[in-house]
Amino acid sequence: MKLAQRVQQLAASATLAVSAKAASMKRDGIDVVSFAAGEPDFDTPDSIKHACIEAIKQGRTGYGKPASGLPEAKEAVCTKLARDNGLNYLPEQVLITSGGKMAVYLAMQALLDPGDEVLILKPYWVSYPEIVKLAGGVPVFLEASTDDFKVSPDAIRAALSSRVRALIFNSPSNPSGVTYSPDEVRAIAGALADHDVWVISDEIYDQLTYDGLTALSYGAVSERSMAQTVTLNSASKTFAMTGWRLGYAAGPVPVIGAMAKLQSQMTSGAVTFNQFGLIAALTSQGDELESMRREFDRRRLCMYERLNTMSAVRCIKPTGAFYCFPNVCAAYEKLGVGGSLEFAERLIEEARVAVVPGIAFGMDEHVRL
Ligand code: PLP
Repeated sequence: MKLAQRVQQLAASATLAVSAKAASMKRDGIDVVSFAAGEPDFDTPDSIKHACIEAIKQGRTGYGKPASGLPEAKEAVCTKLARDNGLNYLPEQVLITSGGKMAVYLAMQALLDPGDEVLILKPYWVSYPEIVKLAGGVPVFLEASTDDFKVSPDAIRAALSSRVRALIFNSPSNPSGVTYSPDEVRAIAGALADHDVWVISDEIYDQLTYDGLTALSYGAVSERSMAQTVTLNSASKTFAMTGWRLGYAAGPVPVIGAMAKLQSQMTSGAVTFNQFGLIAALTSQGDELESMRREFDRRRLCMYERLNTMSAVRCIKPTGAFYCFPNVCAAYEKLGVGGSLEFAERLIEEARVAVVPGIAFGMDEHVRL
């Protein structure tokens, strides 16, 4: 039986595949240390759980109306984006989605025609190229400096053409853990200001920054950047809510309206009672968030320091998110492996340590922990 071309050319998520392998080895009684999934090991804070349980008790179990998100949830998103990110959106500019991944997917479906190019900065989140391709788009990868994993405004300028419809910006970054400084964000916005290019600013790790750094939201740079940006975020990482599948997008009304129309035909919206959890999360005092952030910070330094004591490993200090993305290629020859896939396989088979091969993020000399 024939399957559609669309799925035949689609790669399955490498991160989910490694996590599944580690979980299956654990089920077989094997002691695996898994650094695979990009998932907090904390439980969702109680105040968030209670808001959801209360909503269920009060019968908020029907379809969410409208499908684009409950009005109270959109208000909470507007409050959060103004408070934390200096972004002033109106509720009609907000869409509540079933996870951040769905927000990326809907944005691409709403913006791309077949053959449109999308600039993706290396190293990139594993799903961007596949989501772009699913929308008929063509991913164009931009090289980052190997010193700091940042792509320069000049590299972006050089890639611009009439075929480029969008650029995906993700800071702090999965997988590198790198946060672009406010000046660097402004410089990129400067490079794009005169071009008819959408910026999909994936700010899912915006609250997880370290060393006193804050992540400047792309849309907060100027009126121009605000008008060309779709800001994406999610409850998954910041509030330890990966299983709730709650994300959101904000942007100009025409694009958010188009994404909402797609969502109304695809999922009918995010789970109704979960949206009360999102409201509780976004309007909370942030104490739990801060204690999780501090713990991630402690682990970040521990992992970064330990990795750099290993002779064949070089790791840049992450300033955001919760990943280390060391260069391990000095070990490839010694081990007789051809790249990060084989390296990760040997590591899980022989040392029982699960990491994600860097090739999934566009850099084969690295692995992600
Ligand atoms: N964007 C980035 C950069 C991510 O790392 C992830 C998850 O790993 C997502 C989006 C999607 O998150 P979720 O769908 O769990 O909200």
